[in-house]
Parts: sequence; structure tokens; C-alpha cells
Amino acid sequence: MEERVQAVEQVFEKLDQEIAQFQGWSGLHCKWGCGKCCFKPDIEATILEFLPFAHALYHADQAFAWLEKLKQSSGSICLILNPTQSGAGLCTEYKHRGLICRLFGFSARTNKHGRKELVTCEIIKTEQADQYTLAHEKVEQEKESIPVMHQYYMQLHAIDYELTKDFYPINQAIRKAIETVLAWYAYRND
Ligand code: SF4
Repeated sequence: MEERVQAVEQVFEKLDQEIAQFQGWSGLHCKWGCGKCCFKPDIEATILEFLPFAHALYHADQAFAWLEKLKQSSGSICLILNPTQSGAGLCTEYKHRGLICRLFGFSARTNKHGRKELVTCEIIKTEQADQYTLAHEKVEQEKESIPVMHQYYMQLHAIDYELTKDFYPINQAIRKAIETVLAWYAYRND
């Protein structure tokens, strides 16, 4: 379990460095205090990307409390989100946020022509329009580097295929990650 968690955290660390590099040359950044992307009701994630969060909850003796909270919740908005939180964003577990959370806004997908296409939010597109247009062009012309979404999902696949082959609504992915950690430790302690 620890090895898988550390492997995921290493992928996240490398991604965060690539994102910082992208933000450096493009000048694009999240609006202070925003968090709008976290309110999307249809965010999907894999179990593995929330394994570090579940593992941290287990070691903080909070796994069962969170499992109960997730089971009680009927909504689809991420339960890690705190709409009233002050500061840079609204994520209460920023260090343990998922892969989708890190990629959104500062990464590229590969389009049907095999070209990279910057994927970002409407707020950045409209409020940072000049930088966005320039960044979009440079990414498409491969003039500057940017993290590529499927390359990062492939790295998680390589760590654990079973925990990455399916996408779940984000709260379900978090719940299944917690159940995976609890089952692993329960089995190990038997
Ligand atoms: S984990 Fe954090 S960043 Fe990701 S959707 Fe939830 S609140 Fe947003």
C-alpha cells in the first residue's frame, strides 16, 4: 500500500513541477479564491488518484468518519470542497487532491489530428484572454511544454491498472479509495 501511495505522490510531484513550468511561461493562473471548477457536478476520477488522501485519512484515524460522511451524502459535488473557505481556493485537502483536479486548467489533450490542445476554464479564457490565446497557439505549435492528460493517466495505469481502469463520480472514487485502504489494512492485520 505504502509503495503505491508513494508512487502516486511521485507522479503528482512531477506533474506539479510541469504545471508550475507551464504557468511560468504562459502567465496563466487560477483566479484567487475561485474554486468554480470544483462545483462541477460531473467530475469523474479513478480510485488510485485518491489513494494518497485515503491513506492519510487512515493514518489520521479519520477514515471511518469520512466513509460515513460519503455514505450519507447524496450530492455529486465533491465533499472535499468547502464553499466558504477563505484563501487561494476552496479545496480543503489541496495536497491530496486528485489527478483530475491538478490537470484541469493547465494541461493539454491530444486532438483527432494528433495535436496538443490546451484545456482550461472559461474564467481563464475570458479574464486572461491575451495570455490564453498566446498559450493556446504555442501549445498547438509545440513551441512550449505543457503536461499532457493521457500521459499522466498512463503513468497511474502503470502503478495499478485495477484501481485506474474505471472512472467514478468523484465522491464514489474517494469512498472506494477509503474502502481499499481499510480493506488492505484489515487484511494485513488479520
Ligand atoms: S478534491 Fe479539491 S480540487 Fe478536487 S474537486 Fe474536490 S475540492 Fe476541488
